[in-house]
Amino acid sequence: MAVSLDTGSVASAVDGARRGFLERFGGEPAGVWAAPGRVNVIGEHTDYNDGFVLPMAIDRACYAAAAPRADRILRVYAAQLDETVELSLDALVGPGSAADTRDAASTDMSPLAEPAAGGWAGYPVGVAWVLQQAGFPVGGADVYLSSTVPVGSGLSSSAALECATALALAGVSGFELTTHELALHTQRAENIYAGVPCGPLDQMSSAFGQDGSVLFIDTRSGEVRPQPFDLAAEDALLLVIDTRVSHDHGENGYADRRAACERAAEFLGVRALRDIALEDLPEAFAKVSVGLGETYARRLRHVVTEDARVQQFVAILNHEQFSLPPLGHRMMQSHASLRDDYEVSAPELDLAVATAVAAGAHGARMTGGGFGGSAIALVDRAVLEEVRDAVRAAFAEHGYTEPQFFPAVASAGARRIV
Ligand code: ADP
Ligand code: MG
Repeated sequence: MAVSLDTGSVASAVDGARRGFLERFGGEPAGVWAAPGRVNVIGEHTDYNDGFVLPMAIDRACYAAAAPRADRILRVYAAQLDETVELSLDALVGPGSAADTRDAASTDMSPLAEPAAGGWAGYPVGVAWVLQQAGFPVGGADVYLSSTVPVGSGLSSSAALECATALALAGVSGFELTTHELALHTQRAENIYAGVPCGPLDQMSSAFGQDGSVLFIDTRSGEVRPQPFDLAAEDALLLVIDTRVSHDHGENGYADRRAACERAAEFLGVRALRDIALEDLPEAFAKVSVGLGETYARRLRHVVTEDARVQQFVAILNHEQFSLPPLGHRMMQSHASLRDDYEVSAPELDLAVATAVAAGAHGARMTGGGFGGSAIALVDRAVLEEVRDAVRAAFAEHGYTEPQFFPAVASAGARRIV
């Protein structure tokens, strides 16, 4: 199987970005910045409900090599697409452009009607736009982007790209971003400029990642508590199974689930579904079933039980007798809830999860928004080959595209490398 990206691989990715920059733009970059993708270990579709999540940054990242320019032009080259976007930073503000009067304090995350750039370019240009709106002195820059995060696999290639771009722009323009500012403004860029209504999970994971730790995040308070997650000491690992089914297919599904949660919260008279306690769930479920229908009640049940599972998972991690089977059990419960109550799984994800567990994994679940993308399995190293072979064989038997496997290694968050 593909080995994880070790320090040598980071060095070669950085070297590749430097050489790519030189070829594309001429001259040496002023620096190289990196921002990782993530897997969410547990706590899915809770981040836009003010709830709890438990992601970790992984050792796959977007690398940005950049240099300042004397003018106000921003040029961004995406190596994987071999495409460049070029525009004036002055076109991102002022009359007759994609100007928006929202400042950084605004909580309005609705999309811009006419962004100056769309498609992939909406992500980096959105970052420049949002930083300017927030009053940061963004200067002209050449940026070369190259990523090792698979795109559209539910591993947050978009947040990696946004965070790497933001740090590179800050670095070459000579201003600092706190980790919280980095997460907040990149999420705003994705929501407002790229028009994707994601919660804070992805950008916070990429910004706050820590070597060897998962991040317990309370998305209401913004508190981030790194939690040691040393699976190597248990002779185990978290295996990513990329189903190769793009989650694009479910784009409306995401917005639909989000709207359903907001409607249920409003109906129950709470700010967000996070405010429904587990012990109040039976009553709330009955109320929503009658008032809005059973589908809404099942969406509610997923969110409330998932928040509880995140807290249970963290309690197990903190327990002196840390053991893997109860963690795997919570992952299985999470997957069943996402499949049956929230209805965001896909046949490929269900097959990956069921097969991995039948072949000896402690537990498995879909990770990310669903409708495709990746599953993760908690496996002892001793059964790694069996699990991988069984999933590969099951996919072949069903006529599905061959999945990709790699270990998720808890890694550092967005940072300057050179
Ligand atoms: P993911 O789960 O990978 O974040 P998204 O749909 O949120 O999936 O984001 C994927 C999109 O982000 C791509 O379609 C593309 O527009 C942009 N993107 C991600 N990585 C790159 C990259 N390396 N180069 C150019 N665009 C990228
Ligand atoms: Mg994304």
